Amino acid sequence: MSYDYSALLRQLNLKATPKRLAILGILDEASVFLSPEDIREKMRPSFSKIGLSTVYRNLEELARGNVITKIIHPSRQLYYYFCGKENHHHHFICISCNAVHELDYCPEHEITRTVKKQLKGKVLSHLLQVSGLCNKCLTEKNDQKISGR
Ligand SMILES: [Zn+2]
Ligand SMILES: [Zn+2]
Ligand SMILES: [Zn+2]
Repeated sequence: MSYDYSALLRQLNLKATPKRLAILGILDEASVFLSPEDIREKMRPSFSKIGLSTVYRNLEELARGNVITKIIHPSRQLYYYFCGKENHHHHFICISCNAVHELDYCPEHEITRTVKKQLKGKVLSHLLQVSGLCNKCLTEKNDQKISGR
């Protein structure tokens, strides 16, 4: 996948700085979620003296602008992911290989109904991210179990 990152940033009123463009390129190319440390390692060839706090700040700015997605990992370690899809959708993350899959499911209807019925309130937005093992990692785990016997 290849996006016009400068146009994407301009659209969101964010300045297309070399660091932001580099981060977007790295995340897009990785196609898995990465930690700020991973991203810094990959930025080092072009930004040799870049500090982790600068990486964090840029990631936060991009996440706030909804250009990248913050990954809610069970380990509480921070991760980020670039998803070019604009319409509302949810992600399934694999905690073994860091893959991210689009989920063809949204519980909006059920949540709206439950909040209305139970709390007499109105839903304006919701967040949902599912973590687990992808099919590839699940198969590998089973194979290991069999060969380990
Ligand atoms: Zn997505
Ligand atoms: Zn996996
Ligand atoms: Zn949804």
